[in-house]
Amino acid sequence: MAIFEKIKKLNLIFNFFYPSFCRYCNVLIEQDSIFCLNCFSKINPVATTFLPITKKKSLKVYSACEYKDPLRSLILKKTFSDILASKQLAKIILQKTILKKLDIDFIVPIPLHISRYAFRGYNQASVIAKVLGKELEIPYINLLRRKKRTIFQSKLSVSKRQSNLKDAFDIAFRYKIFNTDFIKNKNIMLVDDLCTTGATLKNAGRVLFNLKPKSICAVVACRVV
Ligand SMILES: [Zn+2]
Repeated sequence: MAIFEKIKKLNLIFNFFYPSFCRYCNVLIEQDSIFCLNCFSKINPVATTFLPITKKKSLKVYSACEYKDPLRSLILKKTFSDILASKQLAKIILQKTILKKLDIDFIVPIPLHISRYAFRGYNQASVIAKVLGKELEIPYINLLRRKKRTIFQSKLSVSKRQSNLKDAFDIAFRYKIFNTDFIKNKNIMLVDDLCTTGATLKNAGRVLFNLKPKSICAVVACRVV
């Protein structure tokens, strides 16, 4: 029997004992898939958008999908510390956006405040950023820190979201005390799970532009449109 035939047979046996189910509608699917074909077809990238940072600088935001199911349900799973869901979000971002074609030097996740990290045990943006870094072979660095424990953005009105996040970010201490020259003239990509009003990305981008990078873009799994 040819080796491929053997592998195919082994796969069939494995699928029989460890079946995979669509993360949204629960139908039986192939191993290594996340959604069934029907649910996967509902994930359509939204147009890239620009967030103004200063008069001259802006930040381009790529997104795998509008904030709606089935991806919305994967993002909400973070309340159950589902690291697997975060890894899958990264893979969907790679499939549904043009990231592979972009010229990026460093990947930087949006950090959580230390107290929120302690409560949840992991940061969804970091897990996504790590997988993207590995797949794209781009260094991943925790360049930012969240110095203020902000209220959940979703609980605030649009006008209060900006002031809630004002001065929320800073350069991480380990980079601040040494040298941030390696960022100069480099292309940075910020990573977050969700973009609602863009206030988080704007505030993080403002801090990073002080380091004089060549460009900053951002990628999120979902964006509210
Ligand atoms: Zn499905």
